[in-house]
Parts: sequence; structure tokens; C-alpha cells
Amino acid sequence: MEIISMDWKVLNIPLKKPFKIALGTMENYEGVVVKICTEEFCGYGEASPSPKIVGDTVQSIVASLKRFKPLVIGQHVENYGKIMEEINRNMIHNSSAKAAIDFALFDILAQMAGMPLKNLLGGKKERIETSLTVDISSVERSVKHAEELLEQGAKVLKVKIGLNPDEDIERIKEIRKITDVRIRVDGNQGYSLRQAVKVLNAIDKYEIEFAEQPLPVGREEEMKILREKVPVAIMADESVHNSHDILNLIGKVDAINIKLMKSGGIYEALKMASIARAAGMKIMVGCMIETKVGIAAGTHFALGVGVDYADLDGYWDLKEQPFDGLKYEKGYNYVYDKPGLGIKELSSIF
Ligand SMILES: [Mg+2]
Repeated sequence: MEIISMDWKVLNIPLKKPFKIALGTMENYEGVVVKICTEEFCGYGEASPSPKIVGDTVQSIVASLKRFKPLVIGQHVENYGKIMEEINRNMIHNSSAKAAIDFALFDILAQMAGMPLKNLLGGKKERIETSLTVDISSVERSVKHAEELLEQGAKVLKVKIGLNPDEDIERIKEIRKITDVRIRVDGNQGYSLRQAVKVLNAIDKYEIEFAEQPLPVGREEEMKILREKVPVAIMADESVHNSHDILNLIGKVDAINIKLMKSGGIYEALKMASIARAAGMKIMVGCMIETKVGIAAGTHFALGVGVDYADLDGYWDLKEQPFDGLKYEKGYNYVYDKPGLGIKELSSIF
């Protein structure tokens, strides 16, 4: 089926409150949504920039999409692998822009097949538990934030740490006092090896599921040492973008966080999941701040492949929801029983 159009729109949506993690603070979400159409079907995609993780901005995403457009128009969706590889040959990195095109192609493919995308990808699960995120603020405010998320049905909390070791220990201790749901932590590269050893050993007694990326990118050898010195499982996030990165992490971490914005979409993420499984690593599907277009793609991927964990709450902090595409109920993400990604525009974007 021939692709006849590819358009995009830049979104600027305020957050409900500033989102603070060890890498910095965000007040607005600026991202790009993409719509690709054949005569019969249209597919949606999204690119969420992360200058400090992927190395892109809204401006660089738009520039990449302009460059990729001639490689997409006139191609046949059935040859999606060929399209993605040509895009990869045309430009390295710029993975969020690639992900946006990849989602739209998979959306159309699944519509052609007449099934939800999760089924095209394997149909392993019907729903997946997602963590909800407590960002960094005072211990008191973190506890209050955790309380609010628990009221909304959270079954897993992901608590951001990595700026102040003593305060982080206190934060986990106080949150554990109010709940017995699972708690995972995310250091976003904020600690030194010495600090990570101290914090993870101290919080182990509060039953921590795993710790995401406590150390900076480039310190993968130290992650191996850390893994031997603490009882908490270690997950790589910012250290793993694509399938090549996983090879370098075998034996150094217990688990990886696949984010479609880092991998450049589902086509590459499927390779990552295979390698991680073969290496005996657990898999989480995570996200950036994204609308429900990106989060629906992540959820379909997580359900199709049947990953171990999900952290797919990126739209929660947005003040407005321009799209629908998934449902959250009592701690779980569900997708709709509709062909493709199942995206609906709630305000007219295109
Ligand atoms: Mg993370």
C-alpha cells in the first residue's frame, strides 16, 4: 500500500506542575506528532525530544522529518523494514524522529491486518501494570505526591532519586511507611559509585524492586561492581539506546529499560528485546513525557512482546490530552480493541 502523505505538527502542552529529576526540570512538553497516510489508512506517530538523553530538540526533529519525508512518500508500507533501514542509512542518531515514522508505519500495518498492533507484535498480554512516577521534591512533598498516586490506583511507584543521597534514603523510608505497593527507584545517572552503594544498601530493607541507572552513562564497568555490592537489581536506562548497547551490558546489569524514543521505534526495539531475553535480562518498557500517541505505541509493544515491567505514564503530567489511545485502570494500562494503534484525535490537530 503506497504512502501518499506525511505531515507533522509541533505540540506545546504545559505540565500540571514542574517535573524534576536528577537530569533537570521540565515545565512544558514540546513534541512533534506525525501522521502518515495511504489511500485507505492513516497512522500516527510521535517524537518527544530529550536533549540530555537522545540529543535532540523539537527543531532537530522537524529538520530530520523534512529530510526523511522523501524516503517515505511513494514507498509501500509493507516494506517497513526497508524504509526504516534507508532512514537509518540516511542519518545516524535522531531516534525520536525515526520512532515517530516507525509508529505510524506500524499503525497502518496493523490496520491493514485488521488487528490491534499488540497482536501483530505477538499478543502476549492483555494488560500490563505500569508504575506511576514520584519526581524529586522535599521528602514531605514526595510523600504527598505518592499518596495522590496511590489514590489514583497505583500498584507500583517509581521514585526518582539521585540528587541527595541522605534525603533519598529518607524519601524511600517515608514513602514505604504509607504503602506496601512495589517501589522501584530511578537515579537518572545522579550518583557516584560510592553514593549508589550507600543508598541502595540502605533502602534495600524497604523492598526495592530494582534501581534504574544509578550511575552516569559511560560508567558501565562500575555498574558491574555496584551490582556485586548491593542486593538491589540494577537496570540500565540511559546507557542502553539500541541493540548494540545491550551487548556491552551483558553481565553488568540485571535488566534494561527499552524506550522507543531511544531505539528509534519498534523495528529496532524488537531486536533489543530478543537480545535481552537471550542474555537473561529482564525488560521494562519506559517512556519520556509523551502524549497518548507515544504511550499507546509503548503499551502495544510491551503487551505484544510480553515484557516484564512497564513504566508508561508519560502523559499523566500533561495539562491537556490532545489524543486518546489507551486506558488506565487500577494500576494497569490497556489498549483498545481496534485495528492499529487505536489513536483518536480529541482536539483537531491535523
Ligand atoms: Mg529512567
